[in-house]
Amino acid sequence: MQDFADIVTLAIVGSGTGLWDRNVVTGEIRYSHGWVELLGYDLDHISNRIEDSYDRVHPDDLAYVQATMCAHFEGRTPSYEVEHRLRAKDGTFKWVLTRGRVIERDAAGRALRMVGTTTDITSTRLLAEELRNSRDLIANLTNEIPGLVFQYRQAVNGAACLPYASMRIADIYELLPRQVATTVAPLEARIHPEDFDLYRAARVASAADMVPWHCTFRVLLPTQGLRWRQIDARPVRQEDGGILWHGLVVDVTEHKRVEQELKDLACIDHLTQLPNRRAFTERLDEAFLCVGRAAACRGDLHAAGLHENDSRAAVLMIDLDHFKTINDTYGHTVGDAVIRHFAKILRTTLRVTDCAGRLGGEEFAVCLPGADLAQAELFAKRLRRMVAASPAIVRGRPIDFTVSIGISDITACDGQAGDTLARADKALYSAKERGRNRVEVTAGAAAERVIS
Ligand code: GH3
Ligand code: MG
Ligand code: MG
Repeated sequence: MQDFADIVTLAIVGSGTGLWDRNVVTGEIRYSHGWVELLGYDLDHISNRIEDSYDRVHPDDLAYVQATMCAHFEGRTPSYEVEHRLRAKDGTFKWVLTRGRVIERDAAGRALRMVGTTTDITSTRLLAEELRNSRDLIANLTNEIPGLVFQYRQAVNGAACLPYASMRIADIYELLPRQVATTVAPLEARIHPEDFDLYRAARVASAADMVPWHCTFRVLLPTQGLRWRQIDARPVRQEDGGILWHGLVVDVTEHKRVEQELKDLACIDHLTQLPNRRAFTERLDEAFLCVGRAAACRGDLHAAGLHENDSRAAVLMIDLDHFKTINDTYGHTVGDAVIRHFAKILRTTLRVTDCAGRLGGEEFAVCLPGADLAQAELFAKRLRRMVAASPAIVRGRPIDFTVSIGISDITACDGQAGDTLARADKALYSAKERGRNRVEVTAGAAAERVIS
């Protein structure tokens, strides 16, 4: 029966480990069979001199190996352990882990004998190198993507973090990957407060139905300020019940700016920067629907979540008088300046809830939500006074002009917002007929009054 020491030796040999025994005084070293096999040598042909053993160490590793050995000889380390390369018989180098310990010292503490093991770790090193290469490849690739490539992990208890974040997190959130490696708190602090609920709701919906997480939201960044971001990520359920998303966050600020510009182009009048006919009509429709809703609740406005002001709205049609003459006298460019000047006056007279629009040419309309006809008349009179008091100044020259205004109110009897606008237009026509530079009112009930 084999004794325990033999079994241990067999086990060590079977694990790709060789043994060595070094006489520090004579410089002689003995190797086990397993040790020489590790490097493809045979016991009869391998030198037993320590100088020769150093010849087999890779030149780049030699200094480090000897320094580590020296530290142990001098008693500065409890054992000797070093990873280095050794030349095999075929000339190639193998990565090994060498461990040893001085087992005999003289009275002065000088090392006399040392034993140890050498283990082939070439495959482990290769695997580690492959992993390092893959990790570097992922980092290099993701860092080139114009956006933040990330993993977002949400644990069952709701705690969330970004186990992986590419370096572009520095642009996207002005953060570093390590700041979000264990918590998303610094990232969430960057999200615009008004968009935070939307951002969270999109993630919650993605988690609930395991559908892609998509959201466009604003961030407030220390350096870049307000920017638009878009997130797209796919969720995967984890074994522990948590969810792991893989995705991308990109900068969509420029896209949003162009989108807004296009929207403005479709809704804003270029000359005056007021809403154009289309945009004004939309606002008028809103006011019309509001009055309709107020009428439908038969006086119980509070129950319908409405306010007294929601039950009425007035509409004004305004046209500049004798504008052709201004064009003919001063030229079209001056005419444009007068139109712009009037738009400016009009804008200063509006409350935030009011809306004015340029319907075309030198024709404007105003919607005053919450105003009755009397209030609308006061508004119109004030506007006329302001026009009279502040002529357009073009190239240092004052150009006087006047306006005619027709007013009507939105009533529950109107079939559509256009009915009110048509009545206000009729009132404007009357103002023109009756001499211009005046205000006419046509109430919804068709009662007509004249105000100078
Ligand atoms: P009334 O008092 O009856 O309104 O007389 P008016 O001369 O203003 O007549 P009308 O409203 O019919 O004519 C408007 C003129 O405004 C006709 C057109 O040449 C001119 N016009 C329309 N759009 C523009 C513009 O954008 N710029 C300039 N400068 N003129 C315009
Ligand atoms: Mg006119
Ligand atoms: Mg006109």
